Amino acid sequence: MSLPSKGYLPPKPKVSEVDGKLSIKARKSQWAQALLHLNGDRYRLNKLDGDDANLSTEAWDMRGDDPSASEEMAQHLQEFGAGERRDYIYPIFDNPLRKAVLCCGRQVEKSTICSALMVTESTLISMFRTLYVSPSAMQTRTFSSEKLAPLLRYSEMINKYWRDTSCRDQVFEKGFLNGSMIFLRYAFLNADRARGIPADRLLIDELQDILADNIRVIEECLSHSKHAWSLYVGTPKTLENTMERYWGYSTQNEWMIPCDHHTPKKWVKLDVDAIGEEGPICKHCGRPINVTAGQWVQTTKDAAYQGFRIPQLMVPWKLDPQTWKDEIVWKLENYDEGEFHNEVLGISFDNAAKPVTRQELVQCCWPSNNLGVDLSRPVMPSKIPPIFKRSRLFMGVDWGEGRAGKGPGGRMKRPSFTVVSIGAMAGDKIAVIYQKRYEGKEADKDYVLKDVGRLMAAYNIKIAAVDRGFGWGINSDLIKTFGESRVVQFQYVRQKESTRWDPLSFCFTIDRNFHMSETINLLKRQGFAFPPWEASEEFLKDVESIYVDYRQGNRNEMYFDHTDPDDAFQSLLLLRCAIYLAYNKLTPAPF
Ligand SMILES: [Zn+2]
Repeated sequence: MSLPSKGYLPPKPKVSEVDGKLSIKARKSQWAQALLHLNGDRYRLNKLDGDDANLSTEAWDMRGDDPSASEEMAQHLQEFGAGERRDYIYPIFDNPLRKAVLCCGRQVEKSTICSALMVTESTLISMFRTLYVSPSAMQTRTFSSEKLAPLLRYSEMINKYWRDTSCRDQVFEKGFLNGSMIFLRYAFLNADRARGIPADRLLIDELQDILADNIRVIEECLSHSKHAWSLYVGTPKTLENTMERYWGYSTQNEWMIPCDHHTPKKWVKLDVDAIGEEGPICKHCGRPINVTAGQWVQTTKDAAYQGFRIPQLMVPWKLDPQTWKDEIVWKLENYDEGEFHNEVLGISFDNAAKPVTRQELVQCCWPSNNLGVDLSRPVMPSKIPPIFKRSRLFMGVDWGEGRAGKGPGGRMKRPSFTVVSIGAMAGDKIAVIYQKRYEGKEADKDYVLKDVGRLMAAYNIKIAAVDRGFGWGINSDLIKTFGESRVVQFQYVRQKESTRWDPLSFCFTIDRNFHMSETINLLKRQGFAFPPWEASEEFLKDVESIYVDYRQGNRNEMYFDHTDPDDAFQSLLLLRCAIYLAYNKLTPAPF
């Protein structure tokens, strides 16, 4: 994570004379403050004291034909009084990227930011077309009448120079004297109403409630624009939701707060650890931190969207100790965890349809797994510490095809690859000490066979549970080398018993639902222990892709499905079978 040397504030507006006319150069954020009135007061972000900027943004030049208008605007641009500091809004207006995502908690002024940006651009650029889309007619109507209309009606400069009674003024359309237009539409299940409106700026509100497929349809409105600016705004829901997907495409800027009690100073992210009893605190030392001293820090590289997360913890009107206690702390204690993450922190949160949450998986990883033995890194075959050399080690192998397949509904899935998991019992947990996925060149069948054999020998595996489904005959090669008591085959079958030994096919037939449930429950109860999340994530994300499908809404008829391959999960399931077999917990024992 890189920190800028200084937070962004726009430079002072430049007013000069060009060809006998007054020319004003200012950033969008400054124009907004010069032009707009909100609730009877000038729209203000904060007092302007910065003279330099480290975010490259465009300056918007306005050469007025009406000298008195130019002078008036120039004067307005210079007048910035002290107010609540909201430095975090400047970069949103002055964003150097064409596309942006705002991932917001509830009540953080997102509608105000949207309407101010729309009106500012409509006045700055003649013939500029804006398309605003929310999920429902009701939401669009509310936005138009409660946010946009008052802003237009009570902004003195707008009414003096940009709008009169000849301009279109309907709920779903607003016009300006310079030819600019704002169109307001809605799209949830169906994007037809938002289709066929060419636009320069697309603004999608409540993104979390709009279907991803419809966003692609709506985006076509920008295809002929030289600007093609888009801003997507919403409150996150689950990790599967559209909001999280677009946040994932973004720079994921976090408003980071310095704590000066450390050398070098530490930067604090505004999440649940930053919630003190009376205000935001440093999670390292517990002392109060000053949110207004924060700055945006980009946390991912090479993203297509500029992303900003705006939790309630950073907005000035939540910061006085009483409001903080009554709202932030109260909600922390009383809200459901998912609701709190979504609405206060602006962070996506897993819901119940996901059988295992990311939080639960992270809890299984070192060091939060409370494992008695050191699992601070995966145990490599060349360096097996004595403690694991003395343990009986087991293996689960899920063979993969190594090529793309089709999922439910015919959607193409990521290819599935062979995954090996190696582990041992440590106390009452299955410690997973090593995992490997055979991808790319290594996906070759001969290579996989040779390498799995090498690992079995290196770790001195007692029992390897292998799946029979994609066995290719590879299983018989392994059985020849290691013997039938060390390489045991498993196959999913629909059957009443959870587990049955089938002497004819020489394998265990197991009930899919039963064994998936058992393995999931074990993960939820921290019955598995893994190396740190950083090392385990690439495998555990397979577990995250599993979801529960209640067929025809019948909760008894539960069915597990997955969005992406779940190979690593299947290899854990088999590892569990190998261990249960050895400890006589898998009934009946065949030998
Ligand atoms: Zn501190």
